[in-house]
Amino acid sequence: MIPYSKQNISESDIDAVVEVLRSDFLTQGDKVPEFEKRVAEYCNSKFAIAANSATSCLHLACMALELKKGDILWTSPNSFVASANCGLYCGSKVDFVDIDRKTHNICPVKLEEKLKLAKKQGNLPKIVIPVHFAGQSCDMKAISELSKKYGFRIIEDASHAIGGEYLNKKIGNCEFSDMAVFSFHPVKILTTGEGGMVTTNNKNLYDKLNLLRTHGISKDLQRKGDLSTWMYEQQELGYNYRLSDIHAALGISQLTRIDTSIKRRHDILNFYEENLDLPNITLPFQSIDSYSALHLYPIELEMEKINRPKEHIFDQLRKRGLGVNVHYIPIHFHPYFKNLGFKEGDFPNAEDYYNRTISIPMFPDLKERELITISEIIKEEVCDNC
Ligand SMILES: *Cc1c(COP(=O)(O)O)cnc(C)c1O
Repeated sequence: MIPYSKQNISESDIDAVVEVLRSDFLTQGDKVPEFEKRVAEYCNSKFAIAANSATSCLHLACMALELKKGDILWTSPNSFVASANCGLYCGSKVDFVDIDRKTHNICPVKLEEKLKLAKKQGNLPKIVIPVHFAGQSCDMKAISELSKKYGFRIIEDASHAIGGEYLNKKIGNCEFSDMAVFSFHPVKILTTGEGGMVTTNNKNLYDKLNLLRTHGISKDLQRKGDLSTWMYEQQELGYNYRLSDIHAALGISQLTRIDTSIKRRHDILNFYEENLDLPNITLPFQSIDSYSALHLYPIELEMEKINRPKEHIFDQLRKRGLGVNVHYIPIHFHPYFKNLGFKEGDFPNAEDYYNRTISIPMFPDLKERELITISEIIKEEVCDNC
């Protein structure tokens, strides 16, 4: 089976991890601060803070912005559930803004319409989380302008997008947001096994993230005059969301290859654009504002021209050895969200996209021979009449 995505692990990655295993510190040593420093330098953000997953990072980011019960968070329905769950963890209400039909990212026009209405009704969001779907940036300029007009904060869910660029600058530089979050799960662009990172340019947010990541515990004492060197204080209710040095060492090593790895993803994109230019398929739109990190390569089936259900094509591709997947089941389709009051029909663009899309293999280690096989199988299964 050729999976839709797969990590790339080199001998030097393995050596880097082994080196930590042989050292004195498996956690809270110097590898996490080094990884943070390197990611901040790479993205050109002032600060970066690592945690044990992007899900934890999203939760920390919401807490740092003091999202509470009674507040509202909006995100894209075309995402992984974690983009919305962070709001629920804080007791806030979650709602969605439908996606643009071309980019499949949150639609700035629909966002503005919904904000206008929310302003009238007195239920504006405190936080909006744009998700850079498949590695391509959202229209951050437009979203940032709206944030100033309507007074919300922005957390970029850049789980798919480390190494990608927006307006010729690295995603994660936070020029148009308060914070950006990356995921280092093995199917993503860069992996630490499990892990995530928040970047920000705001010192106050950085300090809060830092405190909340480690139980809310600080050695920077509020109780002055106590000179005992063992002292520490819990000042907030935080969590243990730390990344270990074992994970960070893998991340540092992986980061040295990120640009070549994304370049290879673009070579694969070029191959698909040449070989899957077929009337029954729409290939992912590449915006000129963006250099996508290409985490995913979701093709859209033109179902009107195909006389079989998508499920049938999906099952055929799996049977023939392609580990295809679907990104995403709209978040509001999950039973948990239906119980919160969402229903089919609420976000038609995300739902229509779900009915058409299949993610085909996209990862740096794909061989030319595999790319040919993948294209041939897709052609046969999707385009028997074209
Ligand atoms: C993978 C993913 C997450 C969660 O990442 P973890 O590191 O697995 O917690 C969040 N949002 C999006 C869009 C993702 O794809």
